[in-house]
Amino acid sequence: MEKENISNYEKKLKEQKTRLEADIKKYSEAEDFGNDADHLEEEADESESYANRMAIASDLKKDLNEVDMALNRIKMGTYGICTKCGGEISEDILDIAPESELCTDCKKKEK
Ligand SMILES: [Zn+2]
Repeated sequence: MEKENISNYEKKLKEQKTRLEADIKKYSEAEDFGNDADHLEEEADESESYANRMAIASDLKKDLNEVDMALNRIKMGTYGICTKCGGEISEDILDIAPESELCTDCKKKEK
């Protein structure tokens, strides 16, 4: 793959990483109840939405991990190469999901 293309994907991945980290922070933070004494009766709802937020944060962390691994592959010079079969990952896929680690064939087989 052209160096120029790789640095393009790297830029995308870094933007994605920044966004994910901000979202994870947002979802992981415990709600600030502060002076919220009036809303005690809503506590059950609040704890449920807390659980939802934790679930979202955990999904986001998985995404972040994939982005980190892709950035690592860029460093190692193996970006755009399928981690399973060693074949090239088509740029059509990388354009949509720059964190992809599998080529189309291997992705199909995974399902
Ligand atoms: Zn493959």
